[in-house]
Amino acid sequence: MAPRPPAASMPIGIAVPNLAEVVAEIAEEMRVRADRGEVATYIPELARVSADQFGIAVIDNDGKAHVAGDGDVPFSIQSISKVFTLTLALGKAGNRLWKRVGREPSGSPFNSIVQLEREHGIPRNPFINAGAIAVSDLILSGHQPREALGAILRFMQFLADDATITIDNAVAASEQRTGFRNAALANYMRSFGVLDNPVDLTLGVYFHHCAIAMSCRQLAMAGRFLAHNGINPTTGLSVVTPERARRINAIMLTCGHYDGSGEFAFRVGLPGKSGVGGGIIAIAPGQASIAVWSPGLDPSGNSHLGQLALEALSKRMGWSIFGA
Ligand code: GLN
Repeated sequence: MAPRPPAASMPIGIAVPNLAEVVAEIAEEMRVRADRGEVATYIPELARVSADQFGIAVIDNDGKAHVAGDGDVPFSIQSISKVFTLTLALGKAGNRLWKRVGREPSGSPFNSIVQLEREHGIPRNPFINAGAIAVSDLILSGHQPREALGAILRFMQFLADDATITIDNAVAASEQRTGFRNAALANYMRSFGVLDNPVDLTLGVYFHHCAIAMSCRQLAMAGRFLAHNGINPTTGLSVVTPERARRINAIMLTCGHYDGSGEFAFRVGLPGKSGVGGGIIAIAPGQASIAVWSPGLDPSGNSHLGQLALEALSKRMGWSIFGA
């Protein structure tokens, strides 16, 4: 797709910002900040990660990667994986998926259970934990957990064009040992017939795809199809239809940061998805695929510096989907 002319969002006479310089500037600004948020501790293995790190990767229209800070360090992608499992599950089940999962923002924390009772076990959207567990269950149906996980991992490797991406089994085991709340969500949904498979198998798939480890560069690569109407612009291969890419972006914008989604749209103005590992993937449609990482979180479980960095990037590049 032809790049959007920068003149549309930039006052006449002002030079087009240089992406490489902006990325380097932001990485330096984030590196020296004292306020870094709190690392997630409810998954013991994540509590061991140092909050000192910050990484960023931006892949532009030509496929050029601008990477700075710790942008090549792998981290636990956690809920960012939910964008990709949703994509896979839509490929398998099509619009049937929306019988099991809604697409409204929850306005609740990512692991909240309260809405499930009122709404008969149907999770509000595919990005809160309950919704993502229902999506994992759909992917699992008709397969062994090993095969379902293999399909998810191979999809990530294909999208990122990188066969070295793996699952961090220590993180998965850590979550499996302590994931009582996710077990509660899954059992509750199963009682309404929203899950088809044995709860422990579905949760096994869910915990393991959350434990995929990737760097900002790999994640930004994997997100490119969402910035380009469903097509990987380098290979020309279609991953999803333009309509599906648009809809996944819409759900990222409205639900990607849980009860912080409104704030993220207000400050950054891009479809985005966060994870409690401190990563965020963001899409500047027609412009770039972006990933940032810093393990310290805000109270909603979204990376503190990651959001600040995306706010700065979107503003300096004029990328907000709502205009300059
Ligand atoms: N695996 C995490 C959990 O289930 C994912 C949560 C997140 O990244 N927000 O709690």
